[in-house]
Amino acid sequence: MSSFLSGRFYDIKAYVPGEQPQNRSYVKLNTNESPFPPSPKVIAALSSEELSRLNLYPDPDARAASLAIAKQHGLGPKNIILGNGSDELLAFAFQAYCDSIVPAVYADITYGFYSVFARINCIESIVAPLDESFSLVPSDYYDADGAVFIANPNAPTGLALPLEDIENIVRFNPDNVVVVDEAYAAFGAQSAVPLVKMYDNLIVVQTMSKSRNLAGARVGYAFADSSLIADLNIMKFSFNPYNVNRLSLLAAVAAIEDDEYYSACVAKIVQTREDTASELTDRGFDVLDGKANFLFVKPGFIGGENYYLGLKERGVLVRHFKQERIKDYVRVTIGDDAQMKAFLSATDDMMKE
Ligand code: PMP
Repeated sequence: MSSFLSGRFYDIKAYVPGEQPQNRSYVKLNTNESPFPPSPKVIAALSSEELSRLNLYPDPDARAASLAIAKQHGLGPKNIILGNGSDELLAFAFQAYCDSIVPAVYADITYGFYSVFARINCIESIVAPLDESFSLVPSDYYDADGAVFIANPNAPTGLALPLEDIENIVRFNPDNVVVVDEAYAAFGAQSAVPLVKMYDNLIVVQTMSKSRNLAGARVGYAFADSSLIADLNIMKFSFNPYNVNRLSLLAAVAAIEDDEYYSACVAKIVQTREDTASELTDRGFDVLDGKANFLFVKPGFIGGENYYLGLKERGVLVRHFKQERIKDYVRVTIGDDAQMKAFLSATDDMMKE
């Protein structure tokens, strides 16, 4: 860093995304992308006619896409905001609801960006440890001392809380905003979207990156009471009014309308997840009962970092985290059949050693 960087960032550690190697082609199971292409309807929507309109700004209110997505979830356009990926909306929520007096409250093992958003905004974090089986303890969040951020299913464990637990956390925090990050909910968790109409302190954040096969388009959305959406719009219009580009807005509408393709992709990933979990269990590995498009796996005697390195050597990339509590695990994205076959055979190869 340069000597010009503001002193308030002296010890900042930016978020580190999963590796995106350019020099070798890996079986990439490290960033929770979908192995499937976007819906054919998305590809058809991005016509050359639309490309030729890139001289024009996108709709800053993202009306067509907002309406389509909100409608599909039984909500109105005042209950939704679109983001440049759900990361942007999470960042807006940290800015809008936390400050030097109001901390952010989240789990010790959860999405790594929460602590980064807290740090860059000079917000104090209150960290609630998951229990010994990596489950989140809902009562730890009752009457919290700040805004609550919960990923459901959690990352990188994949474990999901039932809706009743989420509702209790929302209900027992009438004076705090509760943000439920549902990046992976489509793969097996109960969504909290139906609670949006009942609670004015709840924000549910979802994304098209995983279940709608659009990670490269960067489209996320948040549902909430209209007053909370108004707050998030203040953040957006004070930062980047055109936060979702023209092509991504078109892609979003086409993706949300192609429910058949979406359901088929999600069902296939869920099936492959269950098959992979039993393959790994058969090999003596501990596999958490994940409900996302990835599995969190403790590879027996091999050890987390060793497993990650050994797989990488064999052309398969998974994600390893150095955090003490989870250093014995790796996170494996669910890919297509060929990718999972390559992953399992690399695993078998390592076990032979
Ligand atoms: N929440 C969680 C828990 C995630 O793992 C991710 C993906 N890294 C995101 C949010 C952000 O996803 P995106 O910005 O692609 O919507």
